[in-house]
Amino acid sequence: MHIYKSKFQDLVLPKTNLFSFITSNPKGTPESFHSITDAVTKQVITLQEWKRDTLRWATGLQSIGFKRGDTLAIFSFNQIDYSLVMFGPLVLGAVTTTASSAYNAEELALQLSDSRASVMVTHPESLATARAAAKKVGLPEEKIFLFGDRTIDGFRPYSSLMPPVGTPRDKLANVVNLDGEAAVKTTALICYSSGTTGRSKGVELTHYGLSSNLLQISMVDPEFPPAENASLSVLPMYHMYSIAINLMYGLYSGMPNIVLQKFVFEDFLEAIQRHKIVTLNLVPPQVLLLAKSPLVDKYDLSSVRFLTAAAAPCSRELVEALTARFPKIGFRQAYGMTELSPASHFGQYENQVHGSVGIMLPNQEIRLVDPETGTDVPKGEAGEVWIRGPNVMKGYLNNPAATKDTIDPEGWLHTGDIGLEDNEGNFFIVDRLKELIKYKGFQVPLAELEAVLVGHPHISDAAVIGVEDPSRATEVPLAFVVRNESTAEGKVLTDKDVTTYVASHVAQHKQLRGGVRFIDAIPKSPSGKILRRLLRDHLKEEPQSP
Ligand code: AMP
Repeated sequence: MHIYKSKFQDLVLPKTNLFSFITSNPKGTPESFHSITDAVTKQVITLQEWKRDTLRWATGLQSIGFKRGDTLAIFSFNQIDYSLVMFGPLVLGAVTTTASSAYNAEELALQLSDSRASVMVTHPESLATARAAAKKVGLPEEKIFLFGDRTIDGFRPYSSLMPPVGTPRDKLANVVNLDGEAAVKTTALICYSSGTTGRSKGVELTHYGLSSNLLQISMVDPEFPPAENASLSVLPMYHMYSIAINLMYGLYSGMPNIVLQKFVFEDFLEAIQRHKIVTLNLVPPQVLLLAKSPLVDKYDLSSVRFLTAAAAPCSRELVEALTARFPKIGFRQAYGMTELSPASHFGQYENQVHGSVGIMLPNQEIRLVDPETGTDVPKGEAGEVWIRGPNVMKGYLNNPAATKDTIDPEGWLHTGDIGLEDNEGNFFIVDRLKELIKYKGFQVPLAELEAVLVGHPHISDAAVIGVEDPSRATEVPLAFVVRNESTAEGKVLTDKDVTTYVASHVAQHKQLRGGVRFIDAIPKSPSGKILRRLLRDHLKEEPQSP
């Protein structure tokens, strides 16, 4: 067995309530510091206001009987008070689950019922979907609250539950003491991910795991002066990448976050110019736009000094195009997964090696294993990445079987990614074993699309694979479909029928942008596993259009 170790010294990790950790203020940031700013309205939340209002919100939740053991769901695109709403339950030792704002009512209902959310906070724009989902799972309408300050159709702002500003501290909720093993055992966040196989599952992340990962990440740039590095918070806040690197890192280290509600490229460029953004955390398709789009020339982006790309592969060509256009920007990649709270590797701006996802963060161990034999590959060769460390999730909610398939009895998390480490400790992700693709950084669980497809009365079997779309720097899903002749009633199912049907059942990012191929039978192993490799070969054999 060969265990790879980090070149950083192991850290002493805190075992406490994540709220206490986040507000421990290790850099002595002034309370009046503009912690979070809306990029458009310029509304500000200072550090002091964030702490005060999170406690007021926890108190408001208590007033409706919400307590330890309960779960709050957030269903919204980015808001300046997203982190505050997310942390209220954590103060009480309760749980928050964050849902993709792109979800339709069906997808949201699955998350609400699986996480047993008893309160939901949503945005007026998302209210119709939130109501439809709540109805499906029996979540009472009076337990749905809104971002913003307006009451709509009887739905009140979440802030209406909060006691007045100025309420003495002893009348506000206590921060539940989780010191010691309670921090290791207590779930703080449930984020949804398909992991290596199957449909979306609730990833249980603990107070200890999340605070550990924040400290692990902080080791990468010890000299990084956060207060001077205004960061644009444009990644979707329901995802762990944003929760860790923007929301929590900003509050913990005193780095200002400028929040954009949604990613619209010109708004994004405008925000960088207007707020003199220094730090950007992005996904590869956004990096592609920066590297290639002519719109970029209309804006002054000279304030940007640091750019991190993560959540999906970023090709060497793309990095080269970016650095050619912006030679002064320090570029790095990071790698991780929701199940790792979320990061295991981070690049260093100074020493980034092209194509590498960075170096291993401290307090972790890694093995690279041949997936066929289960034995470690020789040093320097590529294998499935197995990770053990404090940041590994507690498990999948309500799903001991999936947990057992992902974390083995010795505590190794099998990532489903294929990676290798060079002699200098630079890590590279070279392939993916698992049944997941990323459309612009968003998860597209293949099993979920397959389940939707076989739900069509004229489809008897289906399989989905990812294909590269270099023009958008992303993978896109492509479906192989077996038509059900017996029920086709003379009308032949077309690829348009299939894509339209899928589009009506799943969120935008899961649509079949790679197209549809009709096939006689889906190749399967004797155990019934889809042989996606053969489908990829099938595609390669297709005549290329001129
Ligand atoms: P998520 O849980 O949504 O963060 O997805 C995690 C998965 O995204 C990983 O297991 C990888 O397959 C992929 N991923 C994340 N970061 C990178 C990266 N820098 N390069 C390649 N793939 C990545």
